[in-house]
Amino acid sequence: MVSLSTQLKKRGKFMSNMQSWKQNVGSIINYAERIFPEVEIVSRALSGEIVKSNYGQVAKRAKKLGSSLEAYGIKHGQNVGSLALNTYRNMEMYYGISGMGAVMHTINFRLHPEQVVYIINHAENRIIFLETVFAPLLEAIQANCPTVEKYVLLCSKEEMPETTLKDAISYEEFIDDGDESYEWPELEEDAPCGLCYTSGTTGNPKGVLYSHKSTLLHAWAGSSANGLGLDKDDSILMVVPMFHVMGWGLPYIGAMNGIKLVLPGMGMDGAALVELIEKEKVTLAFGVPTIWLGLLNYCKENSITLNTVKQTVIGGSAVPYAMIKQFDEEHGVNVVQGWGMTETSPLATANIKTKEMEALPKEELYKLQTKQGKPVFGVELKIIDDDGNKLPEDGEAYGKLMIRGPWINKRYYKHDSDAVDKDGWFDTGDISSIDPDGYMTIVDRAKDVIKSGGEWISSVDLENAAQSHPDVMQACVIGVAHPKWDERPVLLVVPANEKKDKDSIYAFLEDKIAKWWKPDDIVFVEELPIGATGKVLKIELREKFKDHLMK
Ligand code: AMP
Repeated sequence: MVSLSTQLKKRGKFMSNMQSWKQNVGSIINYAERIFPEVEIVSRALSGEIVKSNYGQVAKRAKKLGSSLEAYGIKHGQNVGSLALNTYRNMEMYYGISGMGAVMHTINFRLHPEQVVYIINHAENRIIFLETVFAPLLEAIQANCPTVEKYVLLCSKEEMPETTLKDAISYEEFIDDGDESYEWPELEEDAPCGLCYTSGTTGNPKGVLYSHKSTLLHAWAGSSANGLGLDKDDSILMVVPMFHVMGWGLPYIGAMNGIKLVLPGMGMDGAALVELIEKEKVTLAFGVPTIWLGLLNYCKENSITLNTVKQTVIGGSAVPYAMIKQFDEEHGVNVVQGWGMTETSPLATANIKTKEMEALPKEELYKLQTKQGKPVFGVELKIIDDDGNKLPEDGEAYGKLMIRGPWINKRYYKHDSDAVDKDGWFDTGDISSIDPDGYMTIVDRAKDVIKSGGEWISSVDLENAAQSHPDVMQACVIGVAHPKWDERPVLLVVPANEKKDKDSIYAFLEDKIAKWWKPDDIVFVEELPIGATGKVLKIELREKFKDHLMK
């Protein structure tokens, strides 16, 4: 047997001589404070007013917050809850909470109150930071949240509303005695820094606990040439909420690169977004398709062109062909589609425009841009069949999309077993293909795929085809029980105008889809139900239309 001292000596022999690295995400804001202190962070306050801060101020106030939390008695690894909008104060929390060693636990305020209660209890939050507008929500549930001992409202002392929330205080008072020169503690690289619960449609939400290392690596990947298509002179409109997957990493990526951030607060309607875009000369905008649908319609109705915007990064749901085309033709905006999930931090693939793409005829370009893109360096992808066999990456075969990498979830928070297989692969729950060039295409969410007579129909492809019809504003395809074929597709359409002509839509689809994919019915609806993270709630629609083809 080899002695321990020999083993250690041997190991030493094969180790490099470089320095070890124990950076906390607080180091990102320290860097921004030193290098880019004047770069702006612009927010829309609840009053509607546009408020200007910058990385220098955010850093100082984040340190005041971090030291105040320490003084209050918050310990490393404890989860600090937040129900907050995209504003400079949320940026301060991202750094102040994680930087002092606690965990920035973002809570999606659009969830059902029962889920909010579950999440607060599961995370054992002691303090919750909240916007004043969410006080009534928390007042109604606080009796069911026994771990919470203090509520901090994101406002000044003067703006404090009347509230029954326990030990309530304004944010400005809470940080008032804090130290703006506070030094972030050194933490282990795997120490937790962020917690986000998945908005699962079945069962309880599951927590994904990000580490300082995974967050830093993810931010670097997002900043890379094949990451999110950034330019250091960009003015980024962050419509993606900061409660969803750590705001797609943008609060870190912005500070790491000294890029101006524009944070819309509560103002998500077309008029408010257009005002911010024009005033702050936004060049790059991030959001989910449903938000852009609203913005594009508003622009059309009011004959507005988004002149300053060069690109938009869209993810969260498949980006329809018609949207890519409309952004390009009406606004000269290039669409970068990204794919990811709460479990993947989220960035995994992005469809960055290349020189070769620029040379393509427009129709081909838009078609290529409906693909979810190529993986960024650091994540690995593969597709497998139901027996676990790897499928060819020929652009034709499709199967379960598996992923692994240093910013991919290994185990859900407080779960007893890993969420990955023995080789570290995480099953995304998406069905996709990968082509020879490395582009990944989502065929469907596994639970949304339509099985007709044993064959699969892609709801994403059908939606894409239907949404290009000029009278269709939004299309959604669901599988509905059928006496002969098990399931058949039904197309739900939110019309773009008065015309509700099924025949015209059927005729339009004819040369775009396989004959047997033809929806068994087309139903016109006023709107589609949208979930807490901006995705169409197909589960609700499947329930509503479950007998539609049985009559
Ligand atoms: P969430 O964890 O709430 O962010 O949801 C992640 C899921 O959203 C993924 O597993 C996909 O099903 C879906 N998703 C995200 N981005 C895209 C995209 N670009 N195209 C299609 N589906 C997407």
